[in-house]
Amino acid sequence: TEPLLKVENLKKHFPITGGILGRPVSSVKAVDGVSFTVNKGETLGIVGESGCGKSTTGRMLMRLIDPSEGKVTFEDRELTSLSNSEMRKIRREIQMVFQDPYASLNPRHTVEKILEEPLKVHGMGSAKERRERVHELLNIVGLSSYHAKRYPHQFSGGQRQRIGIARALMTKPKLIIADEPVSALDVSIQSQVLNLMQDLQKEFELTYIFIAHDLGVVRHISDRVGVMYLGKMVELSDSENLYEEPLHPYTQALLSAVPIPDPDFKRETQLLQGDIPSPSNPPSGCTFHTRCPFATDVCKEKVPEFKEHQPGHYVACHLY
Ligand code: SF4
Ligand code: MG
Repeated sequence: TEPLLKVENLKKHFPITGGILGRPVSSVKAVDGVSFTVNKGETLGIVGESGCGKSTTGRMLMRLIDPSEGKVTFEDRELTSLSNSEMRKIRREIQMVFQDPYASLNPRHTVEKILEEPLKVHGMGSAKERRERVHELLNIVGLSSYHAKRYPHQFSGGQRQRIGIARALMTKPKLIIADEPVSALDVSIQSQVLNLMQDLQKEFELTYIFIAHDLGVVRHISDRVGVMYLGKMVELSDSENLYEEPLHPYTQALLSAVPIPDPDFKRETQLLQGDIPSPSNPPSGCTFHTRCPFATDVCKEKVPEFKEHQPGHYVACHLY
């Protein structure tokens, strides 16, 4: 395994201003010290409830949001130190697929124009070559040349996400960051889009970061999965270990909410209690202590370190 992307201690703190002078009075720790590596050709799933910082993390990797602190290294380039124009060139190699393809596709542009756009932005190909690539990509994602002159509203949700995926592939990227790419789709369509993404990964040797709010969606597509809670990664492991032997009480709770297809398989149901606390006023110590059935006094005082408990299996919890 060869790392493609390395993320070290990534943080995003948004200031909260207050008082008559509008000075920063505190900050929301949207992402608070996240570290992980993504290897070439793998899919890393990143899972957590809304507000856990998973989308902000995804956007910081492409510098669509600038990090407050930390390092992102893509191959041998440290993205956090690049100028905007240098960063623009890198975006050819890192592309994003968004949750709501309708919101991310310009409704006044034909599919042809939408797909051509990334090539124009990066000055790639002649007009003829660009058009050929559009038609090639439409076929690759299961649409056809016949769709090139149509507008986004003329497609179903699933077809629109195929267009979003085609657009991400136009510049032949190495890494795709997919932020809840199937969450807005009907369950019956979700698996078609997931299968397409898996086929494309094999065919074009893509590396994926797949962001989702539930562990069920990423199970079959991910080689490794990271679980986030209130701006921190609380567990990271290869998928098999994470699903068979989750260590963190939060992961255990998330998993007990996932339907289990095998009726002989019994997992103690342990539903999440309480609401997710506000990231502007997170609990002390382990931020999960307000919802954790195993919390003790030390959990309220001391922040658990993110440690390698077994080879390749990381967890941030005082139980280990
Ligand atoms: Fe629960 Fe304590 Fe572990 Fe946090 S550190 S998850 S509160 S047992
Ligand atoms: Mg999100």
